[in-house]
Amino acid sequence: MVHFVGAGPGAVDLITVRGMKLLQKTDVIIYAGSLVNPELLDYAKEKCSIYDSSRMTLEEVISVMEAAHREKKDIVRLHTGDPGIFGAVREQMDELDRLGIEYESCPGVSSIFGAAASLNMEYTLPDVSQSVIITRMAGRTPVPERESIQAFASHGATMVLFLSVGMAEQVRQELLTGGYSKDTPAAVVYKATWADEKKVICTIDTLPRAVKENHIAKTALIIVGSVVTHTSYRRSDLYNPNFATEYREAVKKQL
Ligand code: SAH
Repeated sequence: MVHFVGAGPGAVDLITVRGMKLLQKTDVIIYAGSLVNPELLDYAKEKCSIYDSSRMTLEEVISVMEAAHREKKDIVRLHTGDPGIFGAVREQMDELDRLGIEYESCPGVSSIFGAAASLNMEYTLPDVSQSVIITRMAGRTPVPERESIQAFASHGATMVLFLSVGMAEQVRQELLTGGYSKDTPAAVVYKATWADEKKVICTIDTLPRAVKENHIAKTALIIVGSVVTHTSYRRSDLYNPNFATEYREAVKKQL
């Protein structure tokens, strides 16, 4: 059995309890060495075989899985954050389907939420934005035209950009061309929840300079929208004393 496990954003205690237990039990770990905190490997048992997938092709990863499966061994495929976001897991699953090897997934804390925690930020503030667009600049992996940052900008929703900090000037251009004003708040979080995390608050206009001055070249998220500075928003109805919910009666107005 192959377990696709989300390692969390970086801090070693941000893996789920289930993920940690799977690491402790497994015979083989294939981990994404470019982003997964290697301290997580301390959970592995002594006889566990460990492979760093940053040096491997998909074919090599699958052949390690196939060989281990043949020996009835358990395999953990450890991906950064949550495997469901830019995880390149589906292509592995399709190969495993082809080979008749069973697999299941264990979620992780995505860096999108690691970064929100680092900034004590809520992506969905009433009257500011109730939607989060998770996307990236086109790189070696193309992005469909209809999903360009420029096209998404027209929504004015909170936007979180993965894999794009190396193209900060293009990000700025696309956001402005798409209709955002130059002074729209933005943030860059480098290695959220790691010991060497960096976080910078800027604006769309100053984004490229903020990235450059802080020497951030990779492993960062760009967050765009007024939720970053949270200067004006409406308080929630859920916790409003005049608003009844399924669990709480409204406070009766005194006449
Ligand atoms: N599955 C991962 C994302 C993998 S794509 C997740 O859920 O987080 C790799 C990209 O994720 C990086 O280029 C960077 O943009 C982002 N990333 C991963 N870990 C990060 C972290 N700790 N802090 C900031 N960005 C991170």
